[in-house]
Amino acid sequence: MNRPPIALLAVDVQRDFLPGGSLAVSDGDAVVAPLRALSDQVSLVVATRDFHPLHHCSFLERGGPWPPHCIIGTPGATIHPDIDAMADLIVSKGTDPEVDAYSGFDGTGLAGILRSAGVERVVVGGLATDYCVRATALAARREGFETEVVLAAVRAVDVHAGDGDRSVEQMHRAGVAIRESV
Ligand SMILES: [Zn+2]
Repeated sequence: MNRPPIALLAVDVQRDFLPGGSLAVSDGDAVVAPLRALSDQVSLVVATRDFHPLHHCSFLERGGPWPPHCIIGTPGATIHPDIDAMADLIVSKGTDPEVDAYSGFDGTGLAGILRSAGVERVVVGGLATDYCVRATALAARREGFETEVVLAAVRAVDVHAGDGDRSVEQMHRAGVAIRESV
């Protein structure tokens, strides 16, 4: 029996979000191995990336919440090589200097791309649980995809202690399935 294709959404596994980066997520590189394992369970791998111009509105210099990160053309914006190698498609977000985008569906056409490919179900992992993973999973659900987040494949920023856990609760309440491990 032919089942509809499943897509893995590998969110923002980029150098600036990994240890040593300008907006590093603690233990962020721990998501890479689970994402690689998940890629064997799906038929389409989409990598999203934060991809900002200089002086993006989300940066501190503009009154935004974040230090400069993932600037187009800099090493910090590059996707982890293992994730880059397994991606069938790379989706860029936050490219407008005046608009921020946490969700991989925001202004990218991703929902249409997935529907065109026959995808009905998405599996989400990457960085970070409490920002772009949460936004991407909630948007996937709103777009009508069966959506699952794998806890082994995500890490949180936790600006406030417990942000990651609260985000998981919020996703669960919104109808996102939460799976512990690959
Ligand atoms: Zn950003």
